[in-house]
Amino acid sequence: MWFASENPEMKSWGTGLKYPRRTYSQIEQKLRRHDLMIIDAHTHLGYDYVFEEDFTLEKLLTNMEKNKIDASIVQPGSVLDLKAVTEQHDAIADLSEKMPGRIFGMANPNPHLPEKEYRGELQRCVEDLGFVGVKLHPLAHAVDPHRSAGRRVFEAALDFGIPVMIHTGAGIPWALPSALISPATDFPGLKIVLAHSGSSLFSGEAVLAAKLCPNVYLETSWLPSIAIHSLCKTLGASRVMFGSDHGENVATELTKYRTIGLTDGELEWCLGKTAAEVFKLPVS
Ligand SMILES: [Zn+2]
Repeated sequence: MWFASENPEMKSWGTGLKYPRRTYSQIEQKLRRHDLMIIDAHTHLGYDYVFEEDFTLEKLLTNMEKNKIDASIVQPGSVLDLKAVTEQHDAIADLSEKMPGRIFGMANPNPHLPEKEYRGELQRCVEDLGFVGVKLHPLAHAVDPHRSAGRRVFEAALDFGIPVMIHTGAGIPWALPSALISPATDFPGLKIVLAHSGSSLFSGEAVLAAKLCPNVYLETSWLPSIAIHSLCKTLGASRVMFGSDHGENVATELTKYRTIGLTDGELEWCLGKTAAEVFKLPVS
């Protein structure tokens, strides 16, 4: 008889019984060594005037560091006026300059601003500040994706060559995933990312929208782990991307991906490659 401690591959956990030592798949080893690129596709910096939440610089950077996030796509809080959103866009651009290759901006001017102001600020964000996307929040900005304020966002994004991330879930009917089927069909050259994948109640509808529209992608913050697993297997991991939405939610969202039994290749797409490709991020 030999004891567990005699074999480095076995561990007794103090019970006298022998258990195989935990082994790690190749991708887990990469994660543990931090070789795998992790991109958080949905983060905020600035005060959110609608939801009264302060997304501070300290929280953003601390949670990136603690969770070994390589790069974050950062959008402002929900802001109603031009002056305040301009300041928040500038703060994101400033951070992006200080952390090249790790912070990328996503604009979010209020679509109800006068047309000239909305387009002007978006153009400045893309052409002067190097932002990689624009957010559309039907609930925070009271926007019906099918009416003029909503269409203005899709048209401008197409003109400036950036994807649109749209909030889905809370705020139905304008925030229903199915509300995006028509714009996604009308603008086939535009990539549309459904933030929260419809949330738990409408994740099935988000899958349907993505099945019908090859230019629709899903970001999964706040989604139950079983739903994330389901949409990865139904659509393929190259249509799915990790996002946290909130600094204190980063570890939870990463844990979901790491514990739902995805293949190494699927994890690689979901945690970084999908976002890098959709937003054309210069990362490797
Ligand atoms: Zn958000």
